[in-house]
Amino acid sequence: MESHDTMWKQAVLAFVALFLFGSANPDPYPDDYFDSPLRIPLLLSGSFAEMRSNHFHGGLDIKTQGHSGYGVHAAAEGWISRIAVASGGYGNALYVSHPNGYMTVYVHLDRFAEPIASYIKALQYEQETFEVQSFPGKDQFPVAKGQQIAWSGNSGSSAGPHLHFEVRDEQTSEPVNPALWGFDITDTTPPRIYRFKVYAKGPDSIIRLRDKVSGGWRTLGPGEDAFIELIRRNGSIVLQRVDRIEASGTVAFGVQTHDFHEGSNNLLGQYRIDLEVDGETLFHSELERFSFNQTRFLNAHVDYAERRSSGRWVQRSHVLPGNEFPIYESRNGGLLDVMEGQSYDLRYIIEDVFGNTSGFSFEVHGIASPDPALSDPPEVHIMRHDEPFTWRGSSFTLRAPEGTVYDQITLDPVSVPSPASSRPIYSEMVRIHQADEPVHNRYQLTIRADSLPADLREKATLGMVGSRGTLSWAGGEWDGWGVTSRLRSFGDFVVTTDTEPPSIRPLNLSSGKDMSRSGEIRFRIRDDFSGIGHFRGSINGDWVLFEYDAKYALLRHRFDGRLAPGSHEVRLEVSDNKGNVSDVVIPFRL
Ligand SMILES: [Zn+2]
Repeated sequence: MESHDTMWKQAVLAFVALFLFGSANPDPYPDDYFDSPLRIPLLLSGSFAEMRSNHFHGGLDIKTQGHSGYGVHAAAEGWISRIAVASGGYGNALYVSHPNGYMTVYVHLDRFAEPIASYIKALQYEQETFEVQSFPGKDQFPVAKGQQIAWSGNSGSSAGPHLHFEVRDEQTSEPVNPALWGFDITDTTPPRIYRFKVYAKGPDSIIRLRDKVSGGWRTLGPGEDAFIELIRRNGSIVLQRVDRIEASGTVAFGVQTHDFHEGSNNLLGQYRIDLEVDGETLFHSELERFSFNQTRFLNAHVDYAERRSSGRWVQRSHVLPGNEFPIYESRNGGLLDVMEGQSYDLRYIIEDVFGNTSGFSFEVHGIASPDPALSDPPEVHIMRHDEPFTWRGSSFTLRAPEGTVYDQITLDPVSVPSPASSRPIYSEMVRIHQADEPVHNRYQLTIRADSLPADLREKATLGMVGSRGTLSWAGGEWDGWGVTSRLRSFGDFVVTTDTEPPSIRPLNLSSGKDMSRSGEIRFRIRDDFSGIGHFRGSINGDWVLFEYDAKYALLRHRFDGRLAPGSHEVRLEVSDNKGNVSDVVIPFRL
C-alpha cells in the first residue's frame, strides 16, 4: 500500500516537473515587457557590467543628445517604490516596482513629474534637508506603462546629460542586464579584441615568446607578465609579432576586449568570455547579473596594476584566490599547468549580449623547467586574502581584516621621513605597500603624531601623499595615541590637519540687490581638503531649499512664490568634514 502511494506521488511529481520545466518554461526576459524609457533612439554611452573605477556599471547609460529635459517614461506598469535626491551619486532618482518581480531605476534626472515633485519638495521642507529619500507605499504613486515620471538630466555624479537606466531583481536587489529584455538597441557589431596577456604565475614558471620578425626570444620569469599583440588578417584575429609561445610551470592569461554597438563609439562591456584549452573550458565568465555588494571585485576581475599604469582594462581569465565574484566557471581557477613536451591549443571566444562573437587561437608548447634557484628566499611578511594581518611599529599600527587583498602579497610597512608639502605634516610618512595593489576590505591605519599640538587634535586627519608632496584627504580621527583612519588603498600616508573653512562665493547676489528678475540665488562653495560636510541656507531665519550639485560646487535656491515682495536676508552656513564653518549673510530685495 505504501509503495503504491509512493509511486503515485512520484508520478504526480514527474507530471508537475514536466509542466513547469518542459513545455511551459517561459522566457524569463520577454521582449515585450519593458518599453524604452525615452522617446528618442536608444544609443548607449555605457553598458551593463561595463568596467568602471572600483565597480561594474549597474545599468545602461542612454545618450540624450547632449541635453537634459527629455521625457522619462515608466518602462512598464507598476508603482513608484523609492524616490531619492542626492548631491552626488545617482542625483535625482526614481525606482518603479513592477508586478513581474523586477524594478526599473531612472537616474541623474533633471526633475520629477507631478505629483512626485511636490511630494518631495514638501518632504525637503519638513526635514529641512536637500538630500531626502522616500519609500512610498504600493498605492501612493501607481504608474501606467509609458507614463511620464520625470525629465532626463545630469544630476548627481554624471559626466554629462544622459539617462542611467537599471533593471533590478526585486528579491535580491541585483541589477540584471537590461539588454536581455531586448529594447530597441541595434547591435550586430562583434566585440573587438585588442591584445592578450600571459602571466608566469608559479614560483618557478617560465614563459618564452619568439618574435616573428627578429627571431629573438623574450623570457618572463616568475611573477612577470607580457602583452601579446593581435591583428586582424583575412577576416580572422591572429598574433601580430609573436609566432611561438613556450612555457614551463603554471601560467595564466588575460584579455583586453571591448564591445561596440552601431551609432556609438563608446567602449561597452562584453557578456561572456570563454577560454578553452584543447576544446575544454579553462575559464568562463558571464555577466547576466551581479550583486552591488560585490561590485568592488572588479578590481580582482581586472589587472588592477595594468589599469593604473596604462589605463588598459585587461580582464583576467583566471580567478584570484580572494575573488568571490560569482560569475566564473573554471578549471583550476583558470590556471594552466604546462607539462614538458606537451602542446596546448588555446582559444578565446568573446560574446556580447546580442550574441555577436569574436575569437582567436594560439598554442603553448611545454618546455623543461629550469633548475630551481639555490638561494633561500628572503624573509618577508605575507598578507594573505584569507587571514587577518596586524603590524605594530613604534610609530604606526596596521590592522587588516581577512579579505583585504585578493592574493598573497609581501608586505613590509615602513616609516620614513616625511616629504616637503604645502600642508602641515605632524608625523613620519608611513609607506604601506604600493598603490597599484588593489584593496578590497578597508584596513585600519593609526599613525602616531607626537608633534601634533593638543589644540589641533580635533582637526587632525590622514593625508595620502601623491607626487611632489601633494596630499589628498584620507579621513581619520585623533584616538589618543595617533590618528586612525580606515583605508581602501595602499600607498604613503602622513598626519596633517584641516583648519581652513570652506569658501562661499555668491554668484548672482550682492548686498541690497533687487533679485525680482533673477528667479534664483546661486552660490559656489568649495573646500580645500576634507570636503563639504554640511550646509544650511535660510531666508529671514527660516530654512529654505538650496539644491546642491556637488560636481559643479553649486548651490541654488529657486524663488517659488513663498517669499512676499520686500526686503529679505539670506544666510548660508557651510561646514567641511573637520567642522570648520563659514557663513555669509546678504540682504536683498524681491
Ligand atoms: Zn550609468
